[in-house]
Amino acid sequence: IPEIQRPAVSQVNEKIFTSDSFSELDLHPHLVATLNKVLNVSMVTNVQKQTIPALLSGRDAVVRSQTGSGKTLSYAVPVVQSLQAVQPKICRSDGPLAVVIVPTREVQSEVVDNNSGVSLSLKAEKARLRKGINILVSTPGRLVDHIKHTLSIAFSAVRWLILDEADRTLDLGFEKDLTVILNSLNSAGPSRQNVLLSATLTHGVTRLADVCLNDPVNIQVSGPA
Ligand code: ADP
Ligand code: MG
Repeated sequence: IPEIQRPAVSQVNEKIFTSDSFSELDLHPHLVATLNKVLNVSMVTNVQKQTIPALLSGRDAVVRSQTGSGKTLSYAVPVVQSLQAVQPKICRSDGPLAVVIVPTREVQSEVVDNNSGVSLSLKAEKARLRKGINILVSTPGRLVDHIKHTLSIAFSAVRWLILDEADRTLDLGFEKDLTVILNSLNSAGPSRQNVLLSATLTHGVTRLADVCLNDPVNIQVSGPA
């Protein structure tokens, strides 16, 4: 009796995970259209190929890949996709749905520009926080400033914590500020998804991952995007 010919399981998985197009990733059509039209991207990079499905499935992840490989969209796409389901409002008083920690003001601008925002003065930020925002992108120092001085800041709605460029954040000596932020988030909120992204996996980064992530998927992409 001849063996039944059917694709091996790994081939089936490969078909899902080797797709090169955002339109194959089970994303909201508006999100795919925005990626195509506004950001002019249609093909996923290697790191996005692995990270987006892992995050969409609800897992935490530690992601290591080199600078320029496309790590921002690897978390921004699943964050925006998942927040569609909770219908983000223009005004919200229960605080941000996602918190993205970046090492420097420059990276903050890069990430926010990807999402169309502007940078504000501390006073303007306080007013903005009071009014409510959906995705907060901040350096550790600035966020600790708000935790200590912006009384109305709330973390009870946070569903995502992203530590972008974690290696640089630690290099710049922000470990203590990260601890303040983590304690504040942990005491405020229900469970959330946590993602750590880094170009290098130093001892400090691994330790931070141990503290921040729950049973993370480990994603390592070597070489260029
Ligand atoms: P990393 O965080 O890994 O250093 P970035 O997320 O900053 O990388 O992305 C590097 C550059 O590649 C950015 O200019 C970004 O707009 C661009 N980019 C990211 N993803 C894609 C994609 N899928 N297609 C085309 N360009 C992309
Ligand atoms: Mg980056």
